[in-house]
Amino acid sequence: MTNIILLGPPGAGKGTQARRLVEERGLVQLSTGDMLREARDSGTPMGKRVAEVMARGDLVTDEIVIGLIEEKLKSEKARGFIFDGFPRTLAQADALNSLLNRAGQRIDAVIELRVDDEALIDRISGRYTCADCGEVYHDRTRPTKVPGVCDKCGSHDLRRRADDNAESLRQRLMEYYKKTSPLIGYYYALGDLFVVDGLASIEDVAKAIDNVLDQALAG
Ligand code: ADP
Ligand code: ADP
Ligand code: ZN
Repeated sequence: MTNIILLGPPGAGKGTQARRLVEERGLVQLSTGDMLREARDSGTPMGKRVAEVMARGDLVTDEIVIGLIEEKLKSEKARGFIFDGFPRTLAQADALNSLLNRAGQRIDAVIELRVDDEALIDRISGRYTCADCGEVYHDRTRPTKVPGVCDKCGSHDLRRRADDNAESLRQRLMEYYKKTSPLIGYYYALGDLFVVDGLASIEDVAKAIDNVLDQALAG
């Protein structure tokens, strides 16, 4: 089993790298953001409760996201998981440790994608996603080859997220610094932290992650 956490602020490139790791290493991506958007869009009672919180850019309660992850860990058969956007608080990190321990598993590497805040505004404001297959694009750095058509699946349903605006981003960044950034110290102290330069090109970030994983999985 290989379990990896991708850590970084909104727009750091977690989803982009997680999808590649799924393709190349056969891991399963667990994105709490995707799970919450799915619940919101299908209008479940929980989805209705979290919609406003997400629109504001606040974090959803630990109880809800830990519950989502617990369910997935039980139901998904995988040779390992990539946690994308989870954990985001110390309570979530502790809960993940216990869930993995109980299953006789552990975190192999926590990869921090380090980027500066100025770059995030550009990342977030240029982001769009295929609604059918989830591929992530960017107006400038990673546009579709044919405008309006997904490279991966041919869908024409490309969408921007309602919360990808400057105001929500400011709030998401504040939440990141207050509640999520302490996890960097937490995982450093556990000896699990690896830092990657998230400002490099998508390909170079991918290479750096591969190097980290070779190192972490060998040791
Ligand atoms: P980004 O790609 O910008 O990092 P995500 O798609 O991971 O954002 O998350 C979108 C929103 O979903 C967050 O702003 C937050 O409201 C909620 N969310 C996602 N993951 C978590 C989590 N682990 N804990 C609390 N809230 C979360
Ligand atoms: P996160 O999941 O951390 O919020 P995403 O993977 O959704 O981040 O990436 C945010 C935006 O930045 C997307 O539009 C994506 O295409 C783009 N992007 C991701 N990684 C890079 C990179 N290394 N260089 C330039 N643009 C990138
Ligand atoms: Zn697609």
